[in-house]
Parts: sequence; C-alpha cells; structure tokens
Amino acid sequence: MSNTITAHDFVVVGAGSAGCALAHRLTEDSDRDVLLLEAGQPDDKEEIHTPPLFPELYRTAVDWDYYTEPQPELHDRKLYHPRGKTLGGSSSLNAMIYIRGHPWDYDHWADLGNDGWSYEAMLDHFKRAEHFEPGDGDFHGEGGPLNVTTLEDTHPVSEALVEGMAEAGIEHNPDFNGERLAGSGFYHVTQRDGKRCSSAAAYIKPALDRSNLTVETGAQVTDITFDGDRATGVRYEQDGTEHTAEAGSEIVLSAGAINSPQLLLLSGIGPAAHLEEHGIDVRVDLPGVGKNLQDHLKVGVVYEQTGGPEAPAPSSNVVESGCFVHLDEDEPAPDLQFHNAPVYLLEHGLTPPDDDRSFFTIIPTQIRPDSTGEVRLASDDPYHSPVIDPNYLGADGDIDPLVEGIKLARDVADTDPVDEFCGAEVHPGPEVTSESGLREFVREHASTVYHPVGTCRMGDDDMAVVDDELRVHGVEGLRVADASIMPDIVGGNTNAPSIAIGEKASALLTE
Ligand SMILES: Cc1cc2nc3c(=O)[nH]c(=O)nc-3n(C[C@H](O)[C@H](O)[C@H](O)COP(=O)(O)OP(=O)(O)OC[C@H]3O[C@@H](n4cnc5c(N)ncnc54)[C@H](O)[C@@H]3O)c2cc1C
Repeated sequence: MSNTITAHDFVVVGAGSAGCALAHRLTEDSDRDVLLLEAGQPDDKEEIHTPPLFPELYRTAVDWDYYTEPQPELHDRKLYHPRGKTLGGSSSLNAMIYIRGHPWDYDHWADLGNDGWSYEAMLDHFKRAEHFEPGDGDFHGEGGPLNVTTLEDTHPVSEALVEGMAEAGIEHNPDFNGERLAGSGFYHVTQRDGKRCSSAAAYIKPALDRSNLTVETGAQVTDITFDGDRATGVRYEQDGTEHTAEAGSEIVLSAGAINSPQLLLLSGIGPAAHLEEHGIDVRVDLPGVGKNLQDHLKVGVVYEQTGGPEAPAPSSNVVESGCFVHLDEDEPAPDLQFHNAPVYLLEHGLTPPDDDRSFFTIIPTQIRPDSTGEVRLASDDPYHSPVIDPNYLGADGDIDPLVEGIKLARDVADTDPVDEFCGAEVHPGPEVTSESGLREFVREHASTVYHPVGTCRMGDDDMAVVDDELRVHGVEGLRVADASIMPDIVGGNTNAPSIAIGEKASALLTE
C-alpha cells in the first residue's frame, strides 16, 4: 500500500446533503482549494435519478445497509437502516420530500444557547439554498442551486387522500414550508425536470469545472491526523492505496449522523472508557460523541387499492402527500406526520404480498420523540459498521402518536373521496381495534423513516460535541457539519435542514 500526500485549504469528508452544499459554497471563491472525499461511488445508477425507483436502491452498493441493535420496545427486532453511500449521500436515496420543520425547532436550538441558529437566521440559509419553481417571495428562495417544485403528475389515490385528509378535519395546507406547518396536502419535492435534484445534482455537478474543487469518490476516510491539539488532515483509502490529505485551514466532517461520530471515535475523540475498550488512544475525552441519537419512527396502515393506475408516475416521489397534526397540546408544534404512498409500504415495502393486488399506504410518523439512543464502535476497524442503537420507543409516550395516527388514518380511509379507491384494510387489519392490539402492531412493524440526527450535538455543556460555530470541543481545525449536529431533532424530514446546515457551515467558515 503506497501513501500519497496532497495539500488543500479545506478537506470535507462526505459528499452528502450537507457536504455537497458546503464544498460548493467554499469553492465559490477561487482562492480556496477544497478536497471533497466520498466513500461511495459516483451517482450513475439510473434508479437514483428516476424518482419512483428509489426503493430499488435499498441494500445495493449505494446503501451503507446498516441494521440497528435489537430494539427492546420493538420485540427485539434489528431494524434495517439505509444510508446513502454515493455522491449526494442520503439525498441520492431519499424520497425527495422538501420540508424544513417548524420554526420552533430552530428557535429552540437558539434558546439552548446556540447563537445564530434561530428560525429567522436559518430561513436565510434555506432561501439561499433554494430555487422554488412555483415562485413565492416571503418564505422561499429564487435562483439557489436546490430545485424545489410541485409534483408534475400526481396519482389519483394521492389526490383522493388529500381531499380525504381535509374531510377528516385536517385543514388543507398548500405549502408546509410557508406560513404554517400544520395541515394536509401535497409535498413539495427536490426535483428538476422530473428527475431527482440531490445535493450532488444541485451543488456538485455544476461546480465540477472549478479548478479549486477536487472530488474523490470511492475514497473512505479512516481517521483524522493531528499535530498536538490541531487536526491537520485525514487518511483515506482509495482503490487499495492509502492517502493522506492535509488541510491548511480546516477539516469538516459531513459524513452523516452515523459516520461522523464513528470517525471522531476512531480518531480518539469520544468517551474515554469506550475508546480504551477498543484500544484507541484518547485524544479528547468527549463523552457526548455518538450519544443523543434521535430518529423518527413510522408504521404503515395498508389498504387494498380498488381503482386508479397500479404504479405512480415516472416523476413521482412515491410519498406524494401527507399532513402534520398537533395531537398533544403540551408539545410545542405538530407531533404526528403522515407520509401517504399509492403503493405497499409496510416497513420499507420490501416484502409485498405475492399476488396481483394494488395497495396504498397511509404512514403515521412520530415526529417529536423523547427517546434517545447512541452510535458507538463495534471495533477499531474503520470498515466495520458501528453499533446503532436508537432506543426506539424507550421513552414513555413515544408510542402514543403512532397509535393515534393509525386511528386517524382509518378516519381518512373512511371518507367519501378515498372510498372510491379503498378496498379491505390489509395491515393492521379490521380485526385489530383494541388499544393493546394497535400497540402490538406498532411494536411488530414500526420502522425508521430514515432521519437519524444528533450524535455530534451542538452546545456548550459537558455532553456537547461541537460549539455553535460547529467546532469540535477540545481540538482546533476540526468541525462537523451534517445532521449529527442537531441538538434536538426537527419535527419534519431532515434533508432540507441538513442542506441548510451545510450552507450555514460555509458562512461560518468564510466569515
Ligand atoms: C431512504 C431514505 C429516504 C429519505 N427520505 C427523505 C425525504 O423524502 N425528505 C427528507 O427531507 N429527508 C429524507 N431522508 C433523510 C435525509 O436524506 C437525510 O437526513 C440527509 O440526507 C442527511 O444528510 P447528511 O449530510 O447528514 O448525511 P448524508 O447525506 O447521509 O451524507 C453523508 C455522506 O458521507 C459519506 N461518508 C460516510 N462515511 C464516510 C467516510 N468514512 N469517508 C468518506 N465518506 C463518508 C456517505 O457515503 C454519504 O455520502 C431520507 C433518507 C433515506 C436514507
């Protein structure tokens, strides 16, 4: 194995939602030289770009294909946990729903002591990132790299569900990212001309001719190099060769909520006892690394579909419509979201019944969980998957919105607009009506909605990993910018927030 050494101003690890945005912004100034390292291969699979085909990417080479530890509150099931491993990261695998969350989410981060992270401050970054095709001044951006649009061609079942949700009392909302989050309607999507607009398509492809941006794929970073307390570079492996990339200014980890904490731990930054257990020299005893793992849990209510096309349109993101509902008045904002899909989507839809029937699924999703878990090392081998233990439903009450959500899904299915398309309830099935039966169904079938965050939490207390300028506590020259820095999970999907974190990081690095 030979070792080559290259020198740059900035090294960004991970070309995902946040990393692509960050690398693009940093290289807008030709004086800054940036190396962007991505473990996965280029995003040349057709299924990445053709919106409804994203489930076909599960468990392929562009997926890290993780599994959780057995989850005690979910009958000890080990849950499948996909993460994008290609240019664009998880934004090349995701369902393209564009949601920012609730203003409270960001104001809460600011209230926890994180200056510059209020909704008002973050709105500037959301807008700067965005080109909102329908055009609307107050809440949306114009001319940004990330194309956000309405779906070109919606499925009649989705249209019926949008009408049905309104009839069931969930007021129609034409824009979840506008004046209010609550309500029901169609999602806006990250697409351009009917194709996926991943963060790679938005930020990296248009910047590839910049001479100050180098993008390496198939380049897995194994650890960070140091000179005393200062991070000086990273080691990575590509095609069997070990390389060292030095950073004259800074290194930024944008490897996502599972891999950014793993890289810190492999580099000796984390809880001392855990590092010693794996024979890793302790550089900084930072007990919060990998802790505070939060995620959203979902469960599918599946119906036989009795009319309409069998498959979504070629530009469909599958999960075309949904809603945000505020069930518990003690919560500051909506605590239940629906993801509705005109297909079979129990768990990940990987095992539909083997017959000719069509299906649609209403998917209640718990978006204000109190449960927290952790990511930790299984081994000091960087190629070994870390331990992922989200502790789903570990907190009392986290199951309630899912149970109430199933009841609400049934109310929606019972409305006149949906009736035309609605056959028998397949899951949980009409015989499951008791509270205990519904809880049992959740424990047997709940799965991730793919939003792990919080494992390199921002803050200034003992368990915080980065400060509010995203600098890793206890070392110099090293920041983290991705979903892992969220102090508390946002009440919605996490792609747009991760991209906004990348935008914010670029502002912090260039100030
Ligand atoms: C199947 C699925 C569906 C989803 N649907 C939606 C949706 O519809 N809407 C929404 O808002 N959100 C959705 N999400 C969530 C959203 O996509 C993620 O929250 C977001 O992409 C996270 O961004 P990130 O920058 O933190 O990490 P990522 O985008 O995951 O990027 C991390 C990158 O780092 C790379 N990497 C990791 N380790 C290393 C290493 N050691 N060396 C080099 N590179 C490394 C990875 O390969 C990856 O490319 C979905 C996610 C999935 C998986």
